[in-house]
Amino acid sequence: MMQPEIMQITLLGATGSIGRSTLDVITRHANRYQVYALTANTNVDSLEKLCEVWKPRYAVMFDQLSAAQLSNRLKTKNIKTRVLSGETGLLQVVEDTAVNCVVAAIVGAAGLVSALAAAKAGKRVLLANKEALVMSGKLFMDTVRENDALLMPVDSEHNAIFQCLPDSFTPHHSSVKMTNTQAKSGIERLLLTASGGPFRTFSTDQLHDATPAQAINHPNWDMGKKISVDSATLMNKGLELIEAYWLFDMDIDNIDVVVHPQSVIHSMVTYCDGSVLAQLGNPDMRTPIAHALAWPQRIDAGVEPLSLFDVAKLEFEKPDLERFPCLRLCYQAIKTGGCASIVLNAANEVAVAAFLEEKIGFTDIATLIEKTLDKADLSQDTGSLEKILEADVMARTITNELITNY
Ligand code: NAD
Ligand code: MG
Repeated sequence: MMQPEIMQITLLGATGSIGRSTLDVITRHANRYQVYALTANTNVDSLEKLCEVWKPRYAVMFDQLSAAQLSNRLKTKNIKTRVLSGETGLLQVVEDTAVNCVVAAIVGAAGLVSALAAAKAGKRVLLANKEALVMSGKLFMDTVRENDALLMPVDSEHNAIFQCLPDSFTPHHSSVKMTNTQAKSGIERLLLTASGGPFRTFSTDQLHDATPAQAINHPNWDMGKKISVDSATLMNKGLELIEAYWLFDMDIDNIDVVVHPQSVIHSMVTYCDGSVLAQLGNPDMRTPIAHALAWPQRIDAGVEPLSLFDVAKLEFEKPDLERFPCLRLCYQAIKTGGCASIVLNAANEVAVAAFLEEKIGFTDIATLIEKTLDKADLSQDTGSLEKILEADVMARTITNELITNY
């Protein structure tokens, strides 16, 4: 793919936390990046404001009603953005030949189809939507390779690992392909750091009574609600484990989770000569976004320089799999294979939504996921998008039934 002077970007999930951070980086580099399309779920007000500022060629809303509303409002303001809707709209702005780069920042399974389409269309794919990779791991990575896409990890840990890998692993159109060369390059382990979330020091009793308001109040990162709850249960780290497994083609037993409450080291790679390479920085998603946008170059991200004297102390702990069973379930899901990761992800999405609606308690999230994994047929085929989506629906049905009978 020829690199044009100005990169045309489709930003999926523009109104979210990653979407906003991405636009903040882009705004600093108008000479390099142009916003081609912006998408959102149903928040017409937010996307209208973004369209006023960015005047993209296209905007996509989840449903026709919101799309019609947005379209009318933009017309009265004489903004020429064309408004599309639904999955067809998303696919159109992902596959458009004018687009060079797709930022996949929709939350949850809802982002799978469009992220996969970006890989299939051979784009530079900035992947924030970790659930896509958790659900479709092998299919996604195969699609990237077969279609010469460039997969850039945006999740801060994976972006950090990427930065700590030898140059031989730089993702020339096929992500960080480690197979066979892993041993040669002396890589031993990946150390995935975790802040530990807002409940790191909570007792089992305190966890039992934890509220949504407490769960979404993350100590170091400002994120969407779903990923904030995932950080509180450590499911986020579990999903990231699965994400790392696929991205870096690493044996799951060679990936460790290290709780590091300061969130200054974003992850590490250990080598056979005893070296441990780490990437450090302030906890600000604009750093990995800027890296993924500009790689192999570096651009200003608007992030404050890291002051080690202010940080003063870096601490490390082992994760507690008893208090945070979601992490254990993720290790298990990888080892079980089949559609276990899809079921786990779907059950988690349903359970987190129920927790946010105060239908279930905090510790019920892990219980429901485990029960769903027990009930579901995990041997189902995951070789195609269709099969993956079937397994997702099957798991959601089970978890919803469990919640109804709770
Ligand atoms: P968010 O909730 O702030 O934003 C989600 C975006 O997706 C919004 O623009 C929303 O309109 C859109 N969306 C939601 N449901 C949709 C649907 N059904 N169809 C179409 N669009 C839909 O979430 P976020 O924190 O920005 O996270 C986005 C993704 O990035 C998640 O997968 C998350 O795990 C990942 N991620 C986030 C962070 C972070 O710091 N926020 C860090 C690493 C990875
Ligand atoms: Mg992360």
